Amino acid sequence: MADKKVVIVGGGVAGAILAKNLQHQANVTLIDPKEYFEIPWASLRALVEPSVAERIVINHREYFTKGDLVTSTAVSISETEVSTEDGNQIPYDYLVIATGHTEAIPKTRTERIDQYIAGNERIKSASSVLIVGGGPTGVELAAEIAVDFPEKKVTIVHKGSRLLEYIGPKASRKTLKWLKSKKVDVKLEQSVDLDSHTDGDKTYQTSAGETIEADTHFVSTGKPIGSAWLRETLLKDALDGDGRVKVDEYLRVKGRDNIFAIGDITDVQEIKQGVYAQAHANLVAKNLKLLIEGGGKERKLGTYKAQPPISIVSLGRKQGVAQFPLITIIGRLPGIIKSGDLFVGKTRKDLGLEANVKKEKA
Ligand SMILES: Cc1cc2nc3c(=O)[nH]c(=O)nc-3n(C[C@H](O)[C@H](O)[C@H](O)COP(=O)(O)OP(=O)(O)OC[C@H]3O[C@@H](n4cnc5c(N)ncnc54)[C@H](O)[C@@H]3O)c2cc1C
Repeated sequence: MADKKVVIVGGGVAGAILAKNLQHQANVTLIDPKEYFEIPWASLRALVEPSVAERIVINHREYFTKGDLVTSTAVSISETEVSTEDGNQIPYDYLVIATGHTEAIPKTRTERIDQYIAGNERIKSASSVLIVGGGPTGVELAAEIAVDFPEKKVTIVHKGSRLLEYIGPKASRKTLKWLKSKKVDVKLEQSVDLDSHTDGDKTYQTSAGETIEADTHFVSTGKPIGSAWLRETLLKDALDGDGRVKVDEYLRVKGRDNIFAIGDITDVQEIKQGVYAQAHANLVAKNLKLLIEGGGKERKLGTYKAQPPISIVSLGRKQGVAQFPLITIIGRLPGIIKSGDLFVGKTRKDLGLEANVKKEKA
């Protein structure tokens, strides 16, 4: 069965775990524009403590030792092949779309770690920091800076009417109160036009006519969904109005027997979370094994059920805000669950790696 060709497009949370799980069962090719997988939920900690980047930026080759790795961007697909930007045509028997979100980040691990070091230098040398965007990334970054560098002035400008709009208003209210208690200035229903802002200018104008003084700024306005490359392909009708890929209960692309989609790219009606992306990957790994072993028969395929809207946003090193089905809490308890190690050790172990990076001998 190892001769069946499985192509996974996207080496993020979902694609990485699938590649790791399937590499000994099939002839797997992983396509990703960068040479590494990165643990997204610890990226803001890496900005205040850059040594964390060493643990969260993991070369694909560390966990995906057997299959083929193509470091390029997929640009199109046909019934039988994936085309990549560097001119490769990669044939498949089964295809898995795992292109969650796109982001212009460097190709090599070293360059990515250097970016975190540079970001950390910017924070350390600034007295005031502007964060544009009040979703989970903006809130977590503001909290990391407010906790580690309480002397710095932090401002969040958010165009929505409340922070953390992807979860309920209770979490937004509690988070706003918490940030204010840490002297973070939160400006809601305003935006900052960064296109008209020149590098080095420490004055920012908001849409409401306010002026903000800041030594540096970070943009946390969310990343585009990674499906633009599918718009002119045989999957164009499988995209919904938001650009997400429509899937059935087996996480197969609707109307396709041999193409699956997993992670944030899917139209599964649940909060887009890494923990669910991993669950998609685990299910599709099982389904692909069954299909490959059973010669394409599908009667035993596992089904996926959308998960309830549970989420934890870390607030610095010890606290957090958590939305559970019946209760929303803020403070130490969510912090104990998430904010210490930010699931970094667990995620590394899920990939078959040590929780910590071994120091190289001098
Ligand atoms: C600050 C922050 C905190 C978070 N906290 C949590 C948390 O506590 N718990 C939790 O469960 N989730 C959390 N999440 C959400 C979680 O990170 C996402 O749900 C998860 O990353 C989705 O995984 P994915 O594989 O679907 O997509 P992604 O991780 O976005 O990966 C997509 C991959 O596809 C690649 N790609 C894109 N286009 C192409 C193409 N055309 N060709 C080839 N490759 C392509 C990208 O380079 C990337 O490697 C957090 C996210 C952020 C930003």
